[in-house]
Amino acid sequence: MGRSMSGKDKKFAENKVCMSSFDACMQQFNAAADLLDLDADIRSTLCKPDREIAVEVMFRRDDGSLDSLTGYRVQHNNVCGPFKGGIRFHPEVDLDEVRALAALMTWKTALVGVPFGGAKGGIAFDPSEYSHGELERISRRFFREIDPDVGPHRDIPAPDMNTNEQVMAWFMDEYEQRHGHAPAVVTGKPVELGGSLGRAAATGRGVAIITRETAQHFGVDLSGASVVIQGFGNVGSYAADVLYQMGAKIIAVSDVHGGIHNAGGFTIPELIDYVKERGSVVGYPHAESIENADLLTLPCDFLIPAALGGVINESNVDELQCRFVIEGANAPTTPAAAEKLWDKKIRVAPDILANAGGVTVSYFEWVQNLQQLNWTEDQVNKMLEKKLVAAFNRVVALHEKKNVSLRMAAYMVGIKIVAKAFMLRGA
Ligand code: GLU
Repeated sequence: MGRSMSGKDKKFAENKVCMSSFDACMQQFNAAADLLDLDADIRSTLCKPDREIAVEVMFRRDDGSLDSLTGYRVQHNNVCGPFKGGIRFHPEVDLDEVRALAALMTWKTALVGVPFGGAKGGIAFDPSEYSHGELERISRRFFREIDPDVGPHRDIPAPDMNTNEQVMAWFMDEYEQRHGHAPAVVTGKPVELGGSLGRAAATGRGVAIITRETAQHFGVDLSGASVVIQGFGNVGSYAADVLYQMGAKIIAVSDVHGGIHNAGGFTIPELIDYVKERGSVVGYPHAESIENADLLTLPCDFLIPAALGGVINESNVDELQCRFVIEGANAPTTPAAAEKLWDKKIRVAPDILANAGGVTVSYFEWVQNLQQLNWTEDQVNKMLEKKLVAAFNRVVALHEKKNVSLRMAAYMVGIKIVAKAFMLRGA
């Protein structure tokens, strides 16, 4: 008798995603490496993560029993600076996915010019099934297990899917019990504990900035442009808020509970208040409900996947009716779908550019912690804007010069910087 399908197996089967996350990431890396004519030695070292850590996260349940989960930290590359990247809590976390996401961080930090390498971590579980106390014990135990491999100048974790500033506070506190005052060991902390103003909104703000730059570059008027956002968490809700302020019309949004659609556009501050009160976009008045699959294929100017990976794939890419995809999530488009989008002339602002606002402000937070000073939110936002616009311009210039997709151009910029740093250091 066959085993029952895991969530990930089901996703692969339903969406015909038959490639592992790391294979998909490496396929794109290799395409960029070919275009760069990358030295074979450098290529082979960048294909392999520097270090992979898998730990048992043992913790006590509220009923007094002992339970255990598996946690990972993959450190992909640190030639440009300490390893950097988020930690996610999600049932579909596995070593392969974390490995792929760690590699993306290496290109992302290089592309936006922050002096970090790339890493990622995660624990395979659904946090909504655990109490606050259990989450604290899980978070602390995980950080204790990876303690020898993290540090302000070694590896600096941050929030990712289903983790937040509270989890970062526990991580920091756990680390400081062994090492003394060291707020720079994690970013995305609460402001009261050394977090940066502007960090919570940074990824979404970055998505909005890249949407605006894309609109401007390709001759679309952002004011009144229609936007569909999948995901209304930390990335999607702030992206919606900033895009709304920029004059865009957000016509559909969704979260894990469901989606809503209003062709006339939502008043985003009101929707955000509603979500704060009710915990979901579902049931918001003056909107029809919409299935996730239909949301992704709505006609619109900008489609912003800001939730899970692999949601734009061979099963739905032919139905897409947007003009642009702005990747708020990491790896939301499979390589095969990305090729089809290029043929369909739907331009894609790739994850390593579109969602790089988070790690950029993480860098600002780290700098403030090391210098023991605080910047204003306005200072942070201005510097974020400058870094993202510079990265966008670099990517677009290469996209035009080489007639390659924005993703290939972004990979080429990032990989070239990492390869140069590797060569200068020597082996
Ligand atoms: N998790 C975010 C990302 O994927 C932020 C990482 C960080 O700030 O280190 O880019």
